[in-house]
Amino acid sequence: MKLIYEKSSPGRKGVRPPESDVFAKIEIPSALMRKKPAELPEVSELDVVRHFTELSRRNFGVDTNFYPLGSCTMKYNPKMCEQAAKMEGFAALHPLLPQLRLGGMLTQGALQILHDCAALLCEITGMAEFTMQPMAGAHGELTGIMLIAAYHNSRGSKKTKVIVPDSAHGTNPASAAIAGYSVVTVKSNSRGVMDLEEFEKTLDDETAAVMLTSPNTLGLFNADLQRIVELARSKDALMYYDGANLNAILGRCRPGDMGFDVVHLNLHKTFATPHGGGGPGAGPVGVSEKLIPFLPISRVVKRSDGTFALDYDHPQSIGYIAPFYGNFGVILKAYAYILALGREGLVRVSETAVLNANYLMSKLKNAYELPYDRTCKHEFVLSASKQMKNGVRALDIAKALIDRGFHPPTVYFPLIVKESIMIEPTETESKETLDAFAEAMLEVARIADENPEALRAAPSTTPVSRLDEVKAVKKADFAYIPNA
Ligand SMILES: *Cc1c(COP(=O)(O)O)cnc(C)c1O
Repeated sequence: MKLIYEKSSPGRKGVRPPESDVFAKIEIPSALMRKKPAELPEVSELDVVRHFTELSRRNFGVDTNFYPLGSCTMKYNPKMCEQAAKMEGFAALHPLLPQLRLGGMLTQGALQILHDCAALLCEITGMAEFTMQPMAGAHGELTGIMLIAAYHNSRGSKKTKVIVPDSAHGTNPASAAIAGYSVVTVKSNSRGVMDLEEFEKTLDDETAAVMLTSPNTLGLFNADLQRIVELARSKDALMYYDGANLNAILGRCRPGDMGFDVVHLNLHKTFATPHGGGGPGAGPVGVSEKLIPFLPISRVVKRSDGTFALDYDHPQSIGYIAPFYGNFGVILKAYAYILALGREGLVRVSETAVLNANYLMSKLKNAYELPYDRTCKHEFVLSASKQMKNGVRALDIAKALIDRGFHPPTVYFPLIVKESIMIEPTETESKETLDAFAEAMLEVARIADENPEALRAAPSTTPVSRLDEVKAVKKADFAYIPNA
């Protein structure tokens, strides 16, 4: 489509917006023109306000309720971070503003944030450099595996497979497969971590990378880590660290020191961006020294005169993986969050996250089966196997919690625990909230014993009860029905 604007006279600074009659001159092929006006609903502003306010009341969020959704780190995100992200000097920036010259005064601050936030993440993780571009955890994983592939290719070594333990988040095998690798799964041992013997048998010269989440999705730390890294090194396989839930180790230990070559972080889980409903997020990727040449472009560099610039001159780079520089607003929130908490605050995050998870675990482990009874990190996984004897499933327990004012934990993941209930209380919850949640879980366990039928009708307090969740996603119905 070709747009023809009238030659506009320069405004105060730049170009005046086109006059409305200019649309008469836009050349749109007549076949594409509307034959009749759009049938938009005629609703008053008040009706719209009421509609969306009503919808927001039906929503379930951390700002209203406890949300112990395992592996998702649904913690409270301080409003201070939102304020930082909406500061006009940042929020009103256009991504095409020049880096220096005319707009230099405008973009230098944003470039500095990108640069300095990457430096903070390097310090936190022990990695040599970060790209801030990936826009989600899974996107970071794909970027990381592409970096690993570029590294092996540059050395002329043909590697075909990526090793992933069976407790991994589903995005791990998916990312490796999308990057062109075959995925080999290694099972977990009786302690809930990747079986070392099985791993040794699977590891060979074809192995490009080993993807680990540590602590893993059972909330357990793998004490064999050092040995796994040594073995991988001996086969020239790189180590990938899924750091989506870094609140388990924040300020205590660093993937870089453990020998990992690539780590992705979910800023929208660990570093204070609300992320229910799918975004926006950020999944920056840190790398060890040897992967730096392959990082995506553009990169923010600090020049000798103290100014910042975008640098595209990296012939071995895997290229662009996101438009512009990533989800800048999310990065800004993470930056504000890290600076506000500081060194001591970050350590307290992980200490409290781990303390809260262990507190809840100890309160619940008599009423529910705890398949791996060890000190956990940021989360733990129960099984509804005892309740199943009365026909009560993890799903029924999850729904019963909704009636008691709690968002359900993650259920049916990780796959290696039958009827799994994965609980991540996060560091931001008070003892009173944890106690109330434990009381609700214990009450549900009692009802499962005494009157299991009563749990099948839950939830009864929500606008809709049990949905066919697959159908609800595939055939979403968002019709506007005034005053419905
Ligand atoms: C959430 C999560 C991911 C994926 O992150 P997205 O931003 O949802 O793509 C990957 N790994 C783990 C362990 C996670 O918890």
